[in-house]
Amino acid sequence: MTRTVYLNGEYMPEDQAKVSVFDRGFLFADGVYEVTSVLGGKLLDFDGHAVRLARSLGELGMANPITKDDLLAVHRELVRLNDIEDGLVYLQITRGAADRDFAFPAEGTPQTIVLFTQAKPGLADSPLAQTGMKVISIEDQRWARRDIKTVQLLYPSMGKMMAKAAGAHDAWMVEDGFITEGTSNNAYIVKDGKIITRNLGHEILHGITRAAVLRFAREAQMEIEERPFTLDEAKAADEAFITSASMFVMPVVEMDGDSIGTGAVGPVAKRLREIYLDESRKMAV
Ligand code: PMP
Repeated sequence: MTRTVYLNGEYMPEDQAKVSVFDRGFLFADGVYEVTSVLGGKLLDFDGHAVRLARSLGELGMANPITKDDLLAVHRELVRLNDIEDGLVYLQITRGAADRDFAFPAEGTPQTIVLFTQAKPGLADSPLAQTGMKVISIEDQRWARRDIKTVQLLYPSMGKMMAKAAGAHDAWMVEDGFITEGTSNNAYIVKDGKIITRNLGHEILHGITRAAVLRFAREAQMEIEERPFTLDEAKAADEAFITSASMFVMPVVEMDGDSIGTGAVGPVAKRLREIYLDESRKMAV
């Protein structure tokens, strides 16, 4: 089926949606993105994604070319046009097309805004949630402003390939001995009933799922420590898991070939996944 995508104000078949070779997203990775999950035809955490998008644009000195209401309308229309029950909406905004120059183009240069859907039937019923993920540790070689959600995803992409080559599902990145996050998700360990995850800063992406999960965990009276934790702590943890908009809460059962805890999905990750899915579905728009 040919998808309908959104490009610069228009809905069109995906094979007709074209972006300039001079687009700064293509030439400089000068763009930001968001990925919003769809469950039962409704958007999860839309507000959080819209707020983070505005923040990313602001940090890069880019204008925000679309209001939050219009952005929601485009998301919903794409979900409708493409008949998405479970899946994702991808959004990207770049600084637009301009003659190639490191300096930003003149203010008012039309930006590029693209949205498209990906159907993922049964997104919330991934078998991996029953068995848990295997991860490897790799050095974090990304730039120093990981809190800005830019499209420069080459190193995370390489990290996923390193994981694949090692027979694992993903990689956790390590800087100065401390875990920052997964290649496309936030990382957590559980020790003696406490949930430990890296504190917010420039070192990690401020996950929308992270914010929601920590809020639900607090409401459920779970103990949380937001601080850097080491690779050794991760290996000695009782449990581990990751969060992201497309994986929700996903248990991690192996690190660098060694079992974490019992090597099976732990109770905290299991419970948080259930709470997150239940609560987010209730608030979906
Ligand atoms: N960290 C990184 C590096 C990511 O790429 C992502 C997902 N894009 C996340 C964390 C999770 O963020 P969210 O929960 O908003 O999907």
